[in-house]
Formats: sequence, C-alpha cells, structure tokens
Amino acid sequence: CGIVGYIGHREAGPLLIKGLQKLEYRGYDSAGVAIHDGSSIHIRKKKGRVAEMAAQYKANPAEGTLGIGHTRWATHGETNDQNSHPHVGGNGDVVLVHNGVIENYSSLRAQLQGLGYVFRTTTDTETVAHLLSHHLEEQIKLGSEPGELPTYLKAVENTLTKLKGTYGLVILFQDLPDVMIAARLGSPLVIGVGKDEYFIASDATPLAGYTDEVIYLSDHELAVLTRDEVEIFHRDEGQQKLSIQTLDQVS
Ligand code: GLU
Repeated sequence: CGIVGYIGHREAGPLLIKGLQKLEYRGYDSAGVAIHDGSSIHIRKKKGRVAEMAAQYKANPAEGTLGIGHTRWATHGETNDQNSHPHVGGNGDVVLVHNGVIENYSSLRAQLQGLGYVFRTTTDTETVAHLLSHHLEEQIKLGSEPGELPTYLKAVENTLTKLKGTYGLVILFQDLPDVMIAARLGSPLVIGVGKDEYFIASDATPLAGYTDEVIYLSDHELAVLTRDEVEIFHRDEGQQKLSIQTLDQVS
C-alpha cells in the first residue's frame, strides 16, 4: 500500500517511520522497516498501526543510513506480523517491500519450493524475494561477481520478466550496502532527489520537508540509487535521461 525508502547520511529508521506515518491516510493493516547497517539488514515489522511498529523499533532500534519501509494493505495472505513487509529472500541476501499483486505467485511458489526455498509467509510478495534470491545465485554460478552491481541488476531483470501482475518494488541486498534498487509496473513510485541522499516513496507526501525535486518512475523502469547518484533504466530502451520535476507544493 505505502512505500518509503532512503539512502544518504541520516539515520534511516526514524526517517522511514515518519514517512510511513505520512502515508497512513492511504489505509493499511501492518507496517515494517528494514535497515542496512553496512554489513547486515535488520527488520522490524508488525501487524497494526505504524505507532506499534515504531514502539517496537524504539525498544530495539537498528542503525544505518539505508533502509526501506512499508504499510501493507493485505491482498494475499492474512494480516499478521509474519506477512507484514519487508520480506526476505533466500537466506537473507534479499530484502524487499512490494505494492501491488503478483498474479502468478502460486505457480512461482511451487517452483521455488521445488528448488528448496522455504516460505515463511503466505503472501504473494515472498515469491518475488525468493525468486530474486534464486536468480542472484544463478548469476553468481554463471560467473558474475558477488558484490558487483551488474550481477544484482541482471538478477532483478531476470526476476521481473517472470512476474505477472503489478508492482512497485524497493529492494535491498545484503552484499550491496550502498545501493537501493526500485522497479515499477502499474504501482507508482516517486524518487526524491536530495544532496548526497535520495528518497523513494509510493507518493510524494513523505518527501515534504526533505526535497521538492522529484523523478517519477514509469512502468517498466528500474532505478538504481546510491548516495551520490540515481540511474534509471527502461526494460526495452536502456538507460534514460533523468527528468527532474519540482513539486509545486507538498503539504
Ligand atoms: N500483495 C501484497 C500483500 O498482500 C502487497 C499489498 C500492498 O500493496 O500493500 O502483501
């Protein structure tokens, strides 16, 4: 339902929680964040209001300047702590949040279970996380370098071609502590451009007070965000020229 992401120099956790609170108007049933601390990714997620997840975070904070957050409006899988986003793929090499619906999730789930992937939730989204982990492993088997961006981009592209349905996805990789990857098909994502920092969200409300320079992601586009640049690639057209717009007023 609602997505926020941050890469920069500020403490991500409190910023993401504030962003999720600004997205509360959209309605949701659970909330969560994942923070990359430079070596591993820490998840706090919970059924209920953002304030409940925020209390859990406060009691057990996770430090880091890269992170993603989500408020869920359940479509597949009941509302509970486990099914809340972010979701983990493989043994934790991939962590992601998702808006939308993966229509072919049950066949993907069966295939991935056949490959030995163990599902922890009953959501459609978890199939994307494991599928990505699988493609990552395949890339590395084919000789791509772990820890190098092209390996992960290829794995994301291979994963997206297998998905039927709609998605706004924001992804963290354990072995890429300085990168956030986003992809869109039928579910909006907007990038906020800051100074040595970038934001991403499902709508511009969480960006207010941080930046008014935005880039709207289009369908079939993928964004690679680091602390000092953003690159956008279209599935068929390759790298895109950045079109930065100014928000008139976000309140
Ligand atoms: N289909 C996903 C789920 O049920 C995402 C729902 C949403 O957009 O919040 O978990």
